[in-house]
Order: sequence, then structure tokens, then C-alpha cells
Amino acid sequence: MQIAILGAGVAGLTTAYYLARDGHEVTVIERLEGVALATSYANGAQLSYSYVAPLAGPGVMPKIPPWLLRPDSPLRFYPAWDPHQWRWLLEFVLACNQKQSDTTTRRLLELSFYSRALMHDFVKQESIEFAYAQGGKLVVFSDMGGFDSARRLLDYQRSLGCEQDALDRAQCIALEPALGDSASALSRRLVGGIHTPSEEVGDCYRFCVGLEARLRAMGVKFELNTEIKSLTAQGGRITGVLTDKGGIAADHYVLALGALSAFLVRPLGLRLPIYPLKGYSLTLPALPTAPKISVTDFKRKVVYAPLAEPEGDALRVAGMADIAGYASVIDPVRLKQLFEESRLAFPAATDYRAGPNALQPWTGLRPATPKGTPLLGATPIANLSLNCGHGALGWTLALGSARAVADVIGGQGAKVRMQNFAV
Ligand SMILES: Cc1cc2nc3c(=O)[nH]c(=O)nc-3n(C[C@H](O)[C@H](O)[C@H](O)COP(=O)(O)OP(=O)(O)OC[C@H]3O[C@@H](n4cnc5c(N)ncnc54)[C@H](O)[C@@H]3O)c2cc1C
Repeated sequence: MQIAILGAGVAGLTTAYYLARDGHEVTVIERLEGVALATSYANGAQLSYSYVAPLAGPGVMPKIPPWLLRPDSPLRFYPAWDPHQWRWLLEFVLACNQKQSDTTTRRLLELSFYSRALMHDFVKQESIEFAYAQGGKLVVFSDMGGFDSARRLLDYQRSLGCEQDALDRAQCIALEPALGDSASALSRRLVGGIHTPSEEVGDCYRFCVGLEARLRAMGVKFELNTEIKSLTAQGGRITGVLTDKGGIAADHYVLALGALSAFLVRPLGLRLPIYPLKGYSLTLPALPTAPKISVTDFKRKVVYAPLAEPEGDALRVAGMADIAGYASVIDPVRLKQLFEESRLAFPAATDYRAGPNALQPWTGLRPATPKGTPLLGATPIANLSLNCGHGALGWTLALGSARAVADVIGGQGAKVRMQNFAV
């Protein structure tokens, strides 16, 4: 079958990989000059298979007023005259209950564990260097209340297949000595942590660039610098893609346009509840005193991932979730806040004197759905499939989502329950 993949982020490229391996003739269409230059570029690098609980949870509603009022809060809301934004928010609020949060967590764990198994196969089969490391992850807490709640959840998490241990303050420091730095504000407030040895990290952009080369070698065609303007449809089927360079036709189409996925299908009567949650990252050249394992500061919602890059060891710092529209423009105030979080938490991780602009600042739009589950597989349009809406977990869930979508297109049953991810 001839298949057009719309979008060359991690979702589109991994879908292209499995479809090409299954023997399909694949073309990837991307508006930017290279692959993975939008949200898949400098994300938090976490392959966070066991931490998939959605943002929409029962504890979120009381936290929202302080989050919105404090200018340095991890979540910011900038209201817009956009019915899409308000509808998304309403659906998000409706999803903020225990039952929905548990359901979403179970569904995402099924997909994330599947993705982990596929990642382990992938690294055995493909020789792509992307700073992949199976170093585990430590989520650290700043108050006993939060730590106790996390400890109470351990049994529930174990029943779902997550292997995790609660560590006291001294054990956290023994595992990650950078947490014992007396100059660190994070060290001063550290009370304990949850360690998940099976968590991994990897550089999503380098993975995508390596995958592009592999795909080209497999015969996949790339139409870069090609903006899709609209989809044409007739009789319940897509008949073609109209781009700024002309038309492209295929037998089947996969929508993988990240945070922008909703626009092209709206005129076809398909409503996708995807809205951008804007985040930021910095990539620090890491000194030997930087953290060596992945650390999440639970209170400040900032993740720190060590990455062994060709130019030297780096520390990827990522955080912030701003409901602020579609502009991928760096807000210097938010960037400075992320910089300060990192400087206070790990003062010896790098030389901070040159300021945030010297530390590879980046912003990206998480393609978020209100409930937190991605949109995968078939649609009411016969030859259109979805692989979008992965929010803060698109790198983690990439391989499982792509394999499942390719299986549905190929007519063989997917190994995850696709009804959990239906539009
Ligand atoms: C700050 C931050 C930290 C994150 N940390 C993590 C993490 O640690 N772990 C994790 O698992 N996930 C993380 N994520 C989420 C993850 O990065 C995303 O879920 C994932 O990259 C989404 O991939 P995608 O392929 O769906 O979208 P994208 O990477 O955005 O790809 C979509 C592509 O479609 C193209 N496109 C859009 N419109 C058109 C058009 N009209 N014509 C042609 N092309 C078009 C875009 O240019 C883009 O290249 C993070 C995100 C952010 C912002």
C-alpha cells in the first residue's frame, strides 16, 4: 500500500519505520527543513514508562488557583478568545477525578510497557546512537505529605507492574551524590524519593535523525520543506494532500502533526481534542558534579536527564506547562524561571554564569488531550489513521503507538486495546 505520513516528528517517523518494515511504500511530508525540529527536538529526554499518570487528576483542581496566581508556578494559563481552548479546558476539568485518572493511568501503562519492550528490541536491531541509557529515575519530594502519598501509591503501582522503591533522604543522596550538595536548595528541602530502576533516557532528536537515515535506506521518501495546506476528501475517504508544492496522493494517510493535528481534519468534520501545553528546556554542558541519573523534582515539576552527547556530557533540564496558544516563541521570563530552578537545584551541574541564553534554550508545544490519552488508529474517514495527542509522553510512547497504528493499517490486530485510544 502507498502510505503518506503527515508530520516528521517522533510519532510520524516511528510510524514510517514500522510501516516500511511491513513492506508498505511510505512517504513522509514535513513543513520544516528537517525531521524532529518541532516538539520532538529538545524534550525532557525521559523514557518514563512507569510515570504516566495524567495531568488531569483529582488533586489538580485545588492546586490550580495558586498555580495560576504565582508567576513562577509550573503551570500558567493565558486565556485567549479561542473556543477550542475553552472547550479543551472544560473537558480537562471534567477529567480531573480519581476514576478517570486511574483509567487513563492503566491505559497508558499498557501502552508504555509495550513501548519499552519495543525500545529494547529496537536498540538490539538498529545501530542508532541517541544517548540511550537505562539508568533509572529518582523522583524527589520536598515535604513529608507528598512523599507519604507517593509511598502509599507504591503497592498500587506494583499491582500495575511498576518496580519501585521508596528511599529516605540519605539513600537518595547515596544514589545521586549531586543531591547532597550543601549549596543546593533542592538538597535542603529533600525528604525522600521514589526510585524506579527500569526508567530510561534518550535524546529524541538524535533518535529521529538516526531513524531518518535508516528510513531513507529502507526506501522511505521524504518531502521536507513541504507544508500541508489541506486534505481533500470524497465519499468518506481522503483523496489527496494539498501542499505548497502541489498534490500528493496515497492509499492511506497517517495524521501525526503533533500540537497542530486538529486543524487539517476539522473541515472534514473530525474534532480532535488536542491543545498545546507549552514547555521549556535547557541543555547544559555537564560538569562531573552534575547528576548522573535522571531526577524529577516533584514539587517544582522539573526533570533533569543526563545525556551522553557526542560533544560531551549534557544535562537536559525541562519543565513548565503553559496554556498559551500555538506560538513557539520563548518567553524570557519563563526561561529565566527554568534556569533559576536548575541553578538552585544543581548549582554545581554546569557553569551558570553566562545565563540561560548560553544553555541551548528551547520551547516546544506538547500535543495534549484533556484526559491524557493519545489518539491512535482508525477514524470515521476510511483511509485516515491517527497517531497524535501524546502530550508529555510522546517520546516514551512513540514505539508502542507506532507499532499499534501500523498493525491496524496492515489489518492485523494491534497488541494494545485500540478502543482506549479512539477519537
Ligand atoms: C518541554 C517538553 C518536555 C518534554 N519531555 C518529554 C519527556 O521527557 N518524555 C516524553 O516522552 N515526552 C516528552 N515531551 C513530549 C514529547 O516531546 C511530544 O509528545 C512528542 O515530541 C510529540 O511528537 P509528535 O511527533 O506528535 O509531534 P512533533 O514532534 O511536533 O511533530 C509534528 C510534526 O508535524 C509537522 N507539521 C505540523 N503541521 C504541518 C503541516 N501543516 N504540514 C507539514 N508538516 C506539519 C511539524 O513541523 C512537526 O515536525 C516533552 C515535551 C515538551 C514540550
